[in-house]
Amino acid sequence: MTLQPVERSRPVGRYAPSPTGDLHLGNLRTALAAWEACRRDGGIFILRIEDIDGPRTVPGSEERMLEDLRWLGIDWDEGPDVGGPAGPYRQSERSGLYQEALDVLRSRELTYLCTCNRRDLREASAPHGPVSGLMAPDGPIYSGRCRRADPARQRAHALGAAVRFRVDADPLITFDDLTLGRQVADLPRLSGDFIVRRRDGLWAYQLACAVDDGLMGVTHVVRGQDLLLSTPRQMAILHALGLPFPRYSHIPLLADAQGRRMSKRDGSCSLRRLREQGFSPAQARRHIMASQVIAPRT
Ligand code: GLU
Repeated sequence: MTLQPVERSRPVGRYAPSPTGDLHLGNLRTALAAWEACRRDGGIFILRIEDIDGPRTVPGSEERMLEDLRWLGIDWDEGPDVGGPAGPYRQSERSGLYQEALDVLRSRELTYLCTCNRRDLREASAPHGPVSGLMAPDGPIYSGRCRRADPARQRAHALGAAVRFRVDADPLITFDDLTLGRQVADLPRLSGDFIVRRRDGLWAYQLACAVDDGLMGVTHVVRGQDLLLSTPRQMAILHALGLPFPRYSHIPLLADAQGRRMSKRDGSCSLRRLREQGFSPAQARRHIMASQVIAPRT
């Protein structure tokens, strides 16, 4: 049985960037916040590379990300370059674990094949509106069309099919976010049944991230508020796999000069720019932590 979390005697934090370009100051702010919280608690800090989406991976960006993090003074106890008991630390090397997790979910009848194409999806998505007291919906909500389809017919199309996780078994998810306070999500109204393996065979972020946080024994996830709506889906997967929940802290995002969310494509928000301007690592840390944030969700 390999789906067992690594045993930990100390708190465990992590930073989990995707190597899709150079980290911008907003990414680095999240990394600093996660690292500082972890070190303050005397915890173990993990660096995990989320390179699950091969086509979006930019060659060389992993090396540059590690270099930028180190220059800022962030260090890690476990990661792709140093190894550790919960490795490998690159998602592209963890497919076997995701497959095992999927097999467990399937054996519990929590998944089904979905053969919907884009047009079907438009037609099969239920309309929704905000529901008071609950987290807002995250895009169109899948109606569950293929959940009711004939399984034999679905299997015949398995090659081009996505795999969805059923949310009706355990629909209500509640957690106390360390930054935002109590959050309540009704999964059928947040996302509906969501994809855990894509039609093109790639693993979905929700599955990979949940499996990794669970198996790596992460106890505290600090990440940007853009990922808040992902958390209930990841908790549903953790619960279905019998893995413990970390505590979550979703922190505000940094704004660029126009007051918009920063993007990896905008070079003006890069650490390289600060280095060229002669900032020392300590000055850069202070500058990043004092930068303007986008107002947090309430
Ligand atoms: N890989 C994600 C990103 O770079 C972060 C995932 C997470 O922190 O859960 O946006």
